[in-house]
Parts: sequence; C-alpha cells; structure tokens
Amino acid sequence: MPEIKKTIMTCLGAAAMVIALGQPADAYMAAKNIILMISDGQGFNTVKATEYYSGTKAVYESFSVRGSMNTSSAGKLGSYVGKPYDSGQMWTNFNYQKSGATDSSSAATAMYSGVKIYDNQMNKTTTGADLTTFFEKVAGQGKATGAVSTVNFNHATPAAVVAKTTNRNDYNAITNQMIQSKLNVIMGAGHPLYDNDGQSVSVAADYGIVGSKANWDAMVSGANGRSFIEHKSQFEALANGTMIVDKVFGVAQVRDTLQDSRSGVPASSRNSSVPDLATMTKAALNVLDNDADGFAVMIEGGAVDWANHANNLQRAIDEEIDFNNAVQSVVDYLNAGTSGNDLSNTLLIVTADHECGALWGPETGVFNQVVDNGVGSLPGAAYNSGSHTNALVPFYAEGADAGLFLSYLTGSDPDMAAMYGIDAAFNWYIDNTDIFKVMDAANAAPVPIPASVLLLAPGFGGLLIMRRKWTNT
Ligand SMILES: [Zn+2]
Repeated sequence: MPEIKKTIMTCLGAAAMVIALGQPADAYMAAKNIILMISDGQGFNTVKATEYYSGTKAVYESFSVRGSMNTSSAGKLGSYVGKPYDSGQMWTNFNYQKSGATDSSSAATAMYSGVKIYDNQMNKTTTGADLTTFFEKVAGQGKATGAVSTVNFNHATPAAVVAKTTNRNDYNAITNQMIQSKLNVIMGAGHPLYDNDGQSVSVAADYGIVGSKANWDAMVSGANGRSFIEHKSQFEALANGTMIVDKVFGVAQVRDTLQDSRSGVPASSRNSSVPDLATMTKAALNVLDNDADGFAVMIEGGAVDWANHANNLQRAIDEEIDFNNAVQSVVDYLNAGTSGNDLSNTLLIVTADHECGALWGPETGVFNQVVDNGVGSLPGAAYNSGSHTNALVPFYAEGADAGLFLSYLTGSDPDMAAMYGIDAAFNWYIDNTDIFKVMDAANAAPVPIPASVLLLAPGFGGLLIMRRKWTNT
C-alpha cells in the first residue's frame, strides 16, 4: 500500500506540473525562442559512456521532460523501406538494429519539417515536392534563425535547416541555398584553406568542400549581409559580447570538423586554433538575441557520429563532452536571463538524430550494459557496427511548452529501461516528426492544452516527470 500511495502522489504532482508548464491553466503560451540541440549519432550508451568517463551527468539528464524517440525514415530509394522501431524485434534479434536505419539528412528533415523522406535527401518529399522547415517558417514571421555545427556548416544536419535537395552531397547547391537563405547565423567547420589539423593549405585549397570558389568568395565578401568570421578570437569576441553583428557566417579554420578528424592518437591534444562548440553556441545566441521577436536555432555536435562510425570511443566521448558543455552554456545563458531570455519564454530540446555504432557493453554481439571503469578511464564498451542503427535515441526538453511532448509519447518499449540500465521514463517514445510538431505548436500562441495531456499525465507523468532544480555542476 505505501508503494501505491507514493505512486498516486507522484502522479498528482506530475499533473500539477503539466498545468504549471502551460500557464495560464488552460493554454500554453507561445515560446519566444526555440533551441534544438542535436548530438549526431548519440545513443543511450553514448550518454552513459560519457557520464562514466567524465564522472558527471550532463545537465540535460535532469531536464523535467525525458523520453525516447523513434528515428526511422521513409527508407532509401531503390534499397529499403523505412520501418518504425519494433521493440519485439529489437530485443530478440541483435542484428535487427543494424539494418534499414535512417541517415542524418532524412532524420533532420523529419525533425525540422515533420515529414519522413528518403535517406540522402533533404526537405524533399518522397514525390519530390519542397518542404518548408520550421526554421524557414519562423524566419518568415520575423524571428532570427541559425544553424551551428562542429562539422562542415553545409553537412546534412545543419544544411537541412534550410536547404532542399535530392542529393545531400551536392555541396555547391546546398552552400548556395544557405548563402541565399534568411539564416542570421551559420557556423561550423568547412574551411577550404585549412586541413584537419588546422594548418593552412592555401596553396592547395580544395573549394569542393563549399561547392565552388564562387560560393567561397561570396561568403568571404559578406553576401546577403552576413559578417564573415574565421578566427578563433572572432568567435570569442561574439561570445563575450565585444563584437556585435546581426548576421554572421562563421567558418572555423579547419577542414571537416573542429577536432575529431585531427591526426594523432585518439587522445592527442586538440586543435588549438578553433573554438569549441560552447563558444560557438554563446556567439550564436549573442547574435540571435538581437532580434526582439525571438529566435530559433539548431546546434549540433556533429562529430559524435563520425567518431562512432570510426568505432573510436575516446573521440566519441570527447565530442560528447564538447556537446554537453554547449548544452550547459545554453542553460547558463537562460538561467542568467540573458537579454530577457529564460526558461519561461524559451523551449530547449536536446536529442539525437539516430544512434551510430551499436555501442553496447564489452561483450560483442549481445545486449550487455556499458561498464563504469572510473573517471578518466574508458568505460567497458564495444561497438557492433560501423554505421547507423534503428535503436531509439534519448530526448530531453525543458522550459516553455516542454510539456507539449507529453501528448506525443505514444509508443512504448517496456524493456528499454532494464536493457540499458536507465530511468523508466525512457520506456515511452515519440516519433522524430513530433519534434517538428512540438516546435511548431510551441511557436504558435496560445495553444490549448490537449485533453490527452491531462489524461495521460497521471499515466506517463509518474514515470516521466521529475521536476528538479538545475545546477551548474
Ligand atoms: Zn553518420
């Protein structure tokens, strides 16, 4: 009986919190700002391995709304048909997770435009029609928008914020579309005059990385009103407020990614001439918050995926720590009420586009949990794939309208928590297209609280919602 009583109390508390999130009691007010942060290729075991190695839980692990997310796409044209996550297959067939998984381009489209499309395409329906992304929509409403990544600014996840193409590798068209777009902030790697160690290669510049020299010249000369920056000190000046601009194109002095593709052993010292993602994030927020109408931005830890593809756990953890620091910088920004922006008017979502590497515990080929070997020691873990998987990924939300996610938690996998050794909240999952739906609903005002949320809250809430005070630790 005490157990039951405790559960009921928890549920009542959860329902009360859901109402509190949607002030006034019968409607959600519009979120002025929306910040979507994506750790590309991050699975539950990426989060766990990083937590063990660093000895610190990422700030988002304490967010009030937590759950899992299905990442399936429409499939790959001429190859396979995308199928939603199947928990029955997942836990009875180890190889199920390894075939028919989405790529980052279709996954980004699902989250930004709410439609499942073919892999390797970007904001094009399966019948070839252009999709309008959430970011383009709010830009049309007068809000500032941005795309920030630790990898090439024109790689799938940041590019899909605005670009539309049937070929995600068409860097010429993608870069041109980004230049012509309304984006106030574009930041990432992808500098044609530097190598992956941040060394100048100007005599052998490869403009293919930005599609063409014409694109590069347009970027550098400030096309479409964006200030071009490339020096670490310039990113830092934006981050600390000593440089003020309303539109910026920032390309760090490195080729493919800030750190992950540098030469040397996995733990070799980091490239020192480029900013980290937290600095880029602060710089981006300081540009975007000049717009009194609000902003929407996607910020990506892009190389977690690359390290996972390479089955390089040390670098995957390094990249995830860099991402986690960026999320912390956003939380610090909001907790400080910077430029009038805080949790009451900003929705913060942290998720992944898909898992990569089938990372599990040290025994390969079977489901076993990652082993904690102490702070600073690589955890006991093994990769079982060099590519993306169908595994559910975690999502976390906090701030304005985060409670909207409750009405989308419609799938369940009762084995998730036990298999990974995680909170039971993650047994419930949304679809990746629901990220778009929630962002879109949060942007519109006012939104009545769906009856389903209040009905579901006692059922989901006891598992899902734990209101905790954030700390900076
Ligand atoms: Zn990948």
